Amino acid sequence: MRILDAVRYSLERLEKAGVDDPLTDAEMLVFNAARAERLSAYIDNPEIGGGLFSKIKRLTARRGSGEPLQYIIGHVEFCGLTISVGKGVLIPRPETELLVEEALKTAKREALNVKRNDSGAKDGPSSDDAGLIDFSPFTPHPSLSVLDLCTGSGCIALALAKKLPGAKVFGTDISAKALRYARKNAAAHNICNVTFKKGDLFGPLNKGARFDLIVSNPPYIVTSDIDGLQREIRQWEPKNALDGGADGLDFMRAILSGAPARLKEGGIVILELGYGQADEVSEMARQHGFGNVLVIDDFAGVGRILKAEKAPGFSN
Ligand code: GLN
Repeated sequence: MRILDAVRYSLERLEKAGVDDPLTDAEMLVFNAARAERLSAYIDNPEIGGGLFSKIKRLTARRGSGEPLQYIIGHVEFCGLTISVGKGVLIPRPETELLVEEALKTAKREALNVKRNDSGAKDGPSSDDAGLIDFSPFTPHPSLSVLDLCTGSGCIALALAKKLPGAKVFGTDISAKALRYARKNAAAHNICNVTFKKGDLFGPLNKGARFDLIVSNPPYIVTSDIDGLQREIRQWEPKNALDGGADGLDFMRAILSGAPARLKEGGIVILELGYGQADEVSEMARQHGFGNVLVIDDFAGVGRILKAEKAPGFSN
């Protein structure tokens, strides 16, 4: 049997099982199991052994029964990092890369502000915001600190820690399983400027710890909507990483009410939002004393990322 026969087998099974994009998934399963490159597999179409084909059959059956592809192959790409995932941890989504992008832009501006303050210059927003996204690692002022709430696999915290090597990044999550993945991911990428702590939101932080930047992609699905999600999500991904309560906004409320006391003066909060939440969460941010509230759309035109600044003198 050749590798493309295995792809054909897997494709047929996944088609019958009603999987959304059966060819992509069949290729991913087979090429991952065989450790083959897609292009060379199509050009050389090498022989595969019976043991490997049995394994491919098992993986295909798992995918056919609704298990997410990312859990089966065990990883996903996020902001250029390979993030390990499996049952018990939310699979990082492409939209969340927008949050990282926005956080990086903000961190660079914050760092410039800190430097200017150090040199005795006047405080104030930086004009250096050309809107160009530069993903190259950038060493900010050593005191720049970032908090990622509901860190899950650690994807956001790790992408930020990697791209801001001089910053100190903290991630918290209530799930021990998720944190095992987060720590494993930090070790796999040799990222040392990140600390993960177990507990609810701000709970595990040291008293008095304050941050320049608080980011989060919290659970934000309305509880009663969870049953209507595709089976890969509703039957496999952890409910506590999805469920945002009766109106989906429980975590937005908790984060926006707790954040002012945990942000430095002029500090920034950046949140990922669910569909249709932008207006309500913007209003909530203003009620909690935030200013310069800004919503950024995702690729589908959905208001996805909210950014807000702690107003001077406000720390409730
Ligand atoms: N912050 C993690 C992510 O973006 C987990 C989010 C969550 O558990 N809701 O993937």
